[in-house]
Amino acid sequence: MGSVVIAGAGPGGAALAFLLARRGVGVTLIERHTDFAREFRGEVLLPGGLQMIQQMGLWEAYEAVPQVELRSVEMFVGGRRRARVDFDPVVMGDVAPRWVSQPHFLEWMVAEAGKHPSFRLERGVTVRDLLRDHGRVVGVRCVGPEGERDYTADVLIGADGRSSVVRRRAGLPVHEDATPMDIVWFKLPRPGFMARDPHSRVYVGDGHLMLVAPVYDDRIQVAWIIPKGGFGRVRERGMEACLEAMARHVSPDLADHLRATGAEAMEPFLLSTISDRVTEWSRPGMMVIGDAAHTMSPVGGQGLNHALRDAVSAANHFIPVLTVDGAVAAAAVDRASRGVESERVPEVSLIQARQAVPPRILFSQRSAAGLVMRLGAFFLNRGLAPPLVGRLAGEFFFGVNEVRLEV
Ligand SMILES: Cc1cc2nc3c(=O)[nH]c(=O)nc-3n(C[C@H](O)[C@H](O)[C@H](O)COP(=O)(O)OP(=O)(O)OC[C@H]3O[C@@H](n4cnc5c(N)ncnc54)[C@H](O)[C@@H]3O)c2cc1C
Repeated sequence: MGSVVIAGAGPGGAALAFLLARRGVGVTLIERHTDFAREFRGEVLLPGGLQMIQQMGLWEAYEAVPQVELRSVEMFVGGRRRARVDFDPVVMGDVAPRWVSQPHFLEWMVAEAGKHPSFRLERGVTVRDLLRDHGRVVGVRCVGPEGERDYTADVLIGADGRSSVVRRRAGLPVHEDATPMDIVWFKLPRPGFMARDPHSRVYVGDGHLMLVAPVYDDRIQVAWIIPKGGFGRVRERGMEACLEAMARHVSPDLADHLRATGAEAMEPFLLSTISDRVTEWSRPGMMVIGDAAHTMSPVGGQGLNHALRDAVSAANHFIPVLTVDGAVAAAAVDRASRGVESERVPEVSLIQARQAVPPRILFSQRSAAGLVMRLGAFFLNRGLAPPLVGRLAGEFFFGVNEVRLEV
């Protein structure tokens, strides 16, 4: 039986660790934090990711993780409600979008992996460098509470997110897209009108976008999307001014709630957005998956889904190679890495190209954004979404191609 070291216990690394351990592969999952509340990650899971959890046979257990089902989105333009889109229960089935607590989700996923004796989780251990033998990656050098320690395995998987040490140390070439926006991210108490009427909301204005969603802990999550680098200017004016700027762009009910709650309750933090991808996912003995391979911008809530889809694809390719009697063949490992890359690149590249479009319209052609939204609202209200919109929504929700767990 073979062995794997996985750097990073985000959704990609944790899901792959579970799938490998379930088949008896020796897995060491290395996570630099001691708990999962310490790292930011998106929390919307779409059908294309939820289906992976179903395929993993974990659906019933997953339902106990704190989450809310998102049933509809209301669109506001210039503060006025223009349209509402209800997610079709027939199309969505059990896998309508969910806002899922990531700390709980990941604790649950590693607990599922921990039911298998070949799984080991190293918390509070940071990967610093790769170990090589004759040009082949054979493991990682880490620092943890007990000092420096090396971990070796037949394969190293870098699932260590957008600032991946593994991809940097492996020298994988990266292509970065320009992203024109940053996100001011904060939670507030849930207002009465959203408890009664639990729709997510999108507010679009002149060069302005705000998303508001009721989430699992009786609060609302607010994402205020601003031009890149603009937060410094906002902060200079003070948080009260920041809150007032937001209140001016939203509907009166939410504006009243923002003002009544006050800036002290906001505790906003700035999330810098990145969109990039490595142009080669592997080197002999190692590969990267998830954000380490393709950092997803937040547009359309795609990153968790694609990290999970990468994990399923990697399990399909690596399990047959690693569950052999005797020594694992190095050439077979490297073929498996290339197999995952060639399977995943078309979907991820297309989605990243699609994700780049809305911010471009919003921030470079401000007047066009309002017009596009008004036109969109006009068609949506009449149930007349053009086929192109339906196709794009399908790609964002369900993925571009089928990913099916085969092992
Ligand atoms: C503002 C914003 C909103 C988003 N919203 C959504 C959304 O709603 N839905 C969605 O699907 N996606 C969203 N995303 C993207 C999503 O968060 C990521 O795509 C997703 O988390 C990637 O998963 P991953 O497992 O590849 O990596 P990550 O979730 O980044 O996990 C990587 C893990 O590796 C660990 N790590 C890092 N370095 C080391 C090291 N050297 N040693 C050991 N461990 C290490 C980290 O602590 C972390 O736990 C959003 C992104 C942003 C910026």
